[in-house]
Amino acid sequence: EAAPAHPVVKGVANGSSNPLLANVPNKLFIGGQWVDAESGKTFPVLDPRTGEEVFRVAEADKADVDKAVAAARKAFDEGPWPRMSGKTRDKILVKLAELIEANAEELAKIESLDNGKPLAMSKIADIPLSADHFRYYAGWADKIHGKTIPCDNMLGKWFAYTLHEPIGVVGQIIPWNFPLLMLAWKVAPALAAGNTIVLKPAEQTPLNALRFATLCEEAGIPAGTVNVLPGYGPTAGAAICRHPQVDKLAFTGSTEVGRIVMREAAERIVPVSLELGGKSPLIVDKSVDVDKAVEQAHFACFFNHGQCCAAGTRTYVHADIYDEFVQKAAARAQRRVVGDPFEEATEQGPQIDQDQLDKILNLMSIGEREGARLMCGGKRHGEKGYFIQPTVFADVTEDMTIAREEIFGPVQSILKFHTTEEVIKRANQNEYGLASGILSNDVNFINTVSRSLKAGTVWVNTYNVYESGVPFGGYKSSGIGRDKGEYALEAYTQVKAVYQALEGEPDWY
Ligand code: NAD
Repeated sequence: EAAPAHPVVKGVANGSSNPLLANVPNKLFIGGQWVDAESGKTFPVLDPRTGEEVFRVAEADKADVDKAVAAARKAFDEGPWPRMSGKTRDKILVKLAELIEANAEELAKIESLDNGKPLAMSKIADIPLSADHFRYYAGWADKIHGKTIPCDNMLGKWFAYTLHEPIGVVGQIIPWNFPLLMLAWKVAPALAAGNTIVLKPAEQTPLNALRFATLCEEAGIPAGTVNVLPGYGPTAGAAICRHPQVDKLAFTGSTEVGRIVMREAAERIVPVSLELGGKSPLIVDKSVDVDKAVEQAHFACFFNHGQCCAAGTRTYVHADIYDEFVQKAAARAQRRVVGDPFEEATEQGPQIDQDQLDKILNLMSIGEREGARLMCGGKRHGEKGYFIQPTVFADVTEDMTIAREEIFGPVQSILKFHTTEEVIKRANQNEYGLASGILSNDVNFINTVSRSLKAGTVWVNTYNVYESGVPFGGYKSSGIGRDKGEYALEAYTQVKAVYQALEGEPDWY
């Protein structure tokens, strides 16, 4: 059967007979063109349900990064994107949001195929939130402006004004856990502010980034403004970080790689924003309805198969309700439906790849060895693909590896606490500070704890809410800078101060 032709790359097949992938190009997107890698190399995209290859994509390396940065440089230095009015950028970004919405069903299926997340989740969360992000930042495009500052001294009088200018060519590197949404968090504010972009999606999940590039073309984003380079971290990713013509780096991923990106940024003195790992505490006070709290804590931890940087993986439970909570949390995890992401009842699909599967299984066995009480799970689910049993450990203490290290899998660690002061201290006893949560009906408890937690986000009687207008980012080793909201614009603009002499001004001024 002949492979379908991609509508944008007219007459060029993408090598796949999967109708779901009919609109996904298998090439690099550079300077508005779909091109093969300079090396001619390709790499496989695997179906996490089976570990089998579903697609092959051109593999970018340094030579391709050089080409993409040159295209982005030209688009920034000479092209229309940074020069057009904010109002025009607004319109184009709204169009992009509309195109994501118009193709939502297809994008959701691609996301679930690529990442393994339940289709229902892709449909209600990943894709609409991505569209919302573009619409939100479209609204900012004509509202990015500075201030006027009157000033004088014995030498004269001036007025100074500030311009919030785009930084230039932005290198963006993103992870696989929310492929399109992490792209939106990076790309939308950078575009609204007038930058041009070289983006590297995670090697595990390049599909929707490529489909997104076709939507950029359709929306009328000028050639070279957005360049998409699928490829591996130490090759393509490192080349983006080191390129002398990249003016700013933005990274979401592990703390380990975040350190590398920051070192590269330091070599060239370019600004860098980092969204890194987490080990977020969720504190369950004794005033809660236990059944409801168990469900909320389950969602906080197991959402997206535990593959959330903000996952509430350290569940601190007050001693008065601890035993009941532990029993019920284990029962809830055992009821969790693990299976094919395309089946309606599925709550949890496969983890992303063999490396993550091995890492999670290893950490679970360390948990048992170090004396945590395994309440359920602890093993692989089935024999094919990368599925893991929802796992609950009780009687966890801060000295255990599973309470300190990010597992990034469906593993809940429950810890017992007695007093407010004690739980604040223990919750903060971690290198990370990305997110946190409080479940309580006691307003004083909520106020005291929310102000004491060292974390970029505190969710109170809720968890995993991600509004486009609300900033997200880490304290401590969880990162630098903020994605989302007005705050993210700071990461993609630089401030210029212009002084202008005032002479012959009216005396009432
Ligand atoms: P990772 O750090 O291995 O990879 C992330 C990205 O970095 C990928 O695109 C990868 O190819 C690239 N990369 C790897 N090595 C590189 C190098 N030497 N130079 C440049 N780029 C390189 O992380 P992962 O395993 O893909 O994602 C999971 C991690 O990401 C978790 O630790 C999680 O907490 C974190 N994460 C954080 C957030 C957040 O917003 N803070 C969001 C999602 C994921």
